[in-house]
Amino acid sequence: MAQRSFTIHQVADLLGASGQEVDSWISRGWLDCHQIGGEGPRRVSEVQLVKFLKAQGIDIQLLANAIAKTEAAPEPSPKPQPHQTQVATIEAPPEQPRESEQATDDEEVTTSEPPPPPPTTPAGQIIDALLADAAAAGASTIHLELRKDELSVRLRLGGQLQEKTGFRRRLPPGLPADVVSELQRIAAEGGFARCIDGVNYTCRLTSLPTVEGQLLTVELSPASIAGLDLLGLGDDDLRALRGIVNRGWGLAIVTGPPRSGCGELAAAIMHELGGPGKSCVAVLADAYCRPPGIACSSPCRGPAALAESLAVAAAGDHDAILTDIIDPAGAAAAMLAARRGAMVVARMTEPTVTDAIDRLREMGVDGWELSTLSAGVCTARTVRLLCTRCRRQSQSPDARELPAELARQGMEFGFFVPAGCKDCRNGGYSGRAMLAGVLVANGDTGRVFRQSRPGDVASLWVSATNLLKTGATSIEEILRVLRPHTTQ
Ligand SMILES: [Zn+2]
Repeated sequence: MAQRSFTIHQVADLLGASGQEVDSWISRGWLDCHQIGGEGPRRVSEVQLVKFLKAQGIDIQLLANAIAKTEAAPEPSPKPQPHQTQVATIEAPPEQPRESEQATDDEEVTTSEPPPPPPTTPAGQIIDALLADAAAAGASTIHLELRKDELSVRLRLGGQLQEKTGFRRRLPPGLPADVVSELQRIAAEGGFARCIDGVNYTCRLTSLPTVEGQLLTVELSPASIAGLDLLGLGDDDLRALRGIVNRGWGLAIVTGPPRSGCGELAAAIMHELGGPGKSCVAVLADAYCRPPGIACSSPCRGPAALAESLAVAAAGDHDAILTDIIDPAGAAAAMLAARRGAMVVARMTEPTVTDAIDRLREMGVDGWELSTLSAGVCTARTVRLLCTRCRRQSQSPDARELPAELARQGMEFGFFVPAGCKDCRNGGYSGRAMLAGVLVANGDTGRVFRQSRPGDVASLWVSATNLLKTGATSIEEILRVLRPHTTQ
């Protein structure tokens, strides 16, 4: 095969950088390039790119994967994306803006399609590598210090801080700051959880500005198997969810966007359904991060394989099956498994209970059958709790400025806002809780499943109001979590 070469834009895309950054690497002599026939647009050959990556200590597998993707026809991606568990979500951060659109040498090569973005940016890869490294070493904490454009990394091992030498000089300019801002972005979404070598970890991140940059600590702790009562659910939500679990057969839908907490909720429901003498199995689009303690079929590549594996699982004598519904064939297979007497816990990515029911009907699931087979539909969101030591009482917010869904719940109670103290490391928040919107199927809910646009279903806003009434969290936190998605 002929040696491939890339435009500046393609290199930027491959590495998740901007065109300007690539330009600066070239002008500093870090990245070689050539011009076709000694003039014309600049090109970077594969060899030149690999040499640069090796010199910068970047995982060249990143490039290999991305290049392989440009050569093979991309697999059609299922829509919507399979819901990954909370612990499994490793998402590419948003693409960075290109800053040199007008540059003359940035025209795309007309003979080949521009490569798709790599699975994750270099910053994301470095974070993954750091976490894996720390977990393998048994470190409890990672300390990252950004000073100017240098990142130093130390691991806390058995009470002692150990510097990871050599790390400091190996990152290209701009990348240390990217790593720090990427970590802060993930942390702003309410902490994060990662599956590292098959073990689920929860990561708590704190960040302190320093004179010359930023000091970050990432605390790693192995996550335990949690039942419903350990998720921080309100009493009403817990009771409703137990109503779904106790039915013991049928279809239980857990729906919500990635990182909403729905992965944890589905895992907790499976945990409740399990126990001595029970057979639980998972048939997932991405089996790498199955909930702990549940046997899992091998990862299903693509919706067709998923539906097929689910049909096989349905024929087995299982008490509970965890799966993802991503297409009509999968929905039909899930319905079949439920009809055969198993409890099918199916994850979807629609933001609300109503949307999930609509989506199932769009996928050809019969409303009558759904109303008889369904045990219930639920969604969840993780919210941060106010630090009880420093939270401050505040005035009631102006109801006119609140979303109608919240104002409708009545706001006649005391409100609290975050402050910051030593206990919460000045963040104002400590601990997490889970909001749930739950529809338990019963004799009266049949029409909800059959109507084309069901109206009265339990809402996350009710759950949020219950939490606000106790002063456990703030309005701003509720809006941060619930506003991005339309909720009934
Ligand atoms: Zn505090």
